[in-house]
Amino acid sequence: MSFRIGIWDHCRYVVNREKPYDEMARHLERMRNAGVTLTNIYLPEVPSLSDYCRAAANCGMQLEARITPEWAGKDVVKRTLPEELWKDMEAKHGIRLSGPCGNHPGNRKAFVEGLKLLTDEYKTQLNAIHLDFIRNDNALLLQDYPCQCAECRKLNQRFFGVEVLTAEMLQKPAIAYKLVALRNENVTQTVQELSQVTHQSGLELSIAARANYIDSADITAPPVWGLGPAVLEGQDWVQWLDKGYIDAAYPMNYHTEVEMFKSLVSDYLRLLGGKAFTALHIGVGVMSSMGVNPPEAVGERLQILKDAKLPGAMLFNKINTYTDDYCAVIKSIAE
Ligand SMILES: [Zn+2]
Repeated sequence: MSFRIGIWDHCRYVVNREKPYDEMARHLERMRNAGVTLTNIYLPEVPSLSDYCRAAANCGMQLEARITPEWAGKDVVKRTLPEELWKDMEAKHGIRLSGPCGNHPGNRKAFVEGLKLLTDEYKTQLNAIHLDFIRNDNALLLQDYPCQCAECRKLNQRFFGVEVLTAEMLQKPAIAYKLVALRNENVTQTVQELSQVTHQSGLELSIAARANYIDSADITAPPVWGLGPAVLEGQDWVQWLDKGYIDAAYPMNYHTEVEMFKSLVSDYLRLLGGKAFTALHIGVGVMSSMGVNPPEAVGERLQILKDAKLPGAMLFNKINTYTDDYCAVIKSIAE
């Protein structure tokens, strides 16, 4: 059985953005020579998707297009809060995080329409669609500050009898339950609709999954602010695999402590059972907000995944380019 190694690519290495083909082709060829057989390209940053498709095809790489709710439209509705709550969040956590609201039907509509246009044009050149940030903001930064956009206010009015929940209401288990349930139902509906479009085009659907699905080893300090739990952010990726809405999950397990890395791997194997051996491609961090894994640490992690008989792994590197020592390690493990 082969062990497929992929990369999350984002083309930040391209200098000549007007004529990017040669630089993209050089990068992909170099990675292909290191044994990488899948590339996953971040559409908001690729200077030319058709050139990228050609470059990937020329060196025999499988290709996934990575999209986010924000990619889809200029008018995406982000988490909405009054200024005093933003100030409070910033004082407590050192950040104001305002990602797209997963409850908003307008965001869903724009995302699905954007995907239709993409698949109509590129379905013959792609192997899969990949969803990134398919969730709400980080659980840690969401808990006390649920979105107050017009659509969230409507939901609150219906289920809780008020447009805006008070801090005391947020502590009540039934209200907390329903808030999280609505979040999951709404993001799941988006995934279902995206799944339909993707599968009708003959493509597979994969996602960048939150590393902490429910109760895994986590890091809540900045600049990570938690790796989930996915189920509090509306990203029930285990259920999505069970239901067949997605074909593969790539949990972003970028831990630099190998014991934490291993504990997450065993959590995923427990959660997915036999499905892990077709659908689980665990993400390994080279350089990420969680720190740097030197070449030997990347090799150790890839070997753990290969020994577990998993079908492959994905590499994330925020600087995007891989020095020779990393390439040598990848090549020694790739099949
Ligand atoms: Zn909202």
